Amino acid sequence: MTTLFISDLHLDASRPHISQLFVDFVHSEATRANALYIIGDLFEAWIGDDAADATADQVAAALASLHARNVPCFFIHGNRDFLLGDAYARRARMTLLPDPSIVEIEGERILLMHGDTLCTDDAPYQAFRAQSRNPAWQRAFLARPVVERQAFAAQARAESQRYTRSIGDAITDVNAAEVLSELRQHGVRRMIHGHTHRPAIHAIDLGGDDAERVVLGDWYEQGSVLRCSGGLTALDAVR
Ligand code: MN
Repeated sequence: MTTLFISDLHLDASRPHISQLFVDFVHSEATRANALYIIGDLFEAWIGDDAADATADQVAAALASLHARNVPCFFIHGNRDFLLGDAYARRARMTLLPDPSIVEIEGERILLMHGDTLCTDDAPYQAFRAQSRNPAWQRAFLARPVVERQAFAAQARAESQRYTRSIGDAITDVNAAEVLSELRQHGVRRMIHGHTHRPAIHAIDLGGDDAERVVLGDWYEQGSVLRCSGGLTALDAVR
């Protein structure tokens, strides 16, 4: 049986063909899987479960059908959809997992995380993350009218795009020392994350032990999926 890992779909109404690609993936390959793990940024933006749009409805229906076929779906928040809450997770019949989480796949403990916490060189982002993951900040934000939240999200996205263009590629990638620290701290030899949109399987020397860091790809032009089966992992495109 195959376990599937995806992230960074960034679904929204502006790219309906990618939403459809995802729905088709859920209704075909995922129905035959052992489990589906979505490791953040399923949606381009999320301003509260009460503001779910037609794309979110379509995705919830597809994922709920997976549950009906006894395929569990797990979700870890990304930096875009960190406000996705219990109400939507119940609709989609997916289980929210903390970031990071350790899962056991075919007897091996694997560290899962969205990946933004690994980008420790990006101090302004980490400051925003600390603020926006605060429960009091989230309660205050979610209490604002939907139109105000939409305006805030649009502005934050525009600022983030300007900022990302202004800094170097190295700053938006993971910090190598942080990767080693996470592997050691959790006592694992494999980690899977997304966020950076730099799909690859990196071999890591963990002081004599072989370790591996899998980076999932985004779903901008096509899909990207990691399939784990029988001790083998393969990172492939979904078209
Ligand atoms: Mn991300």
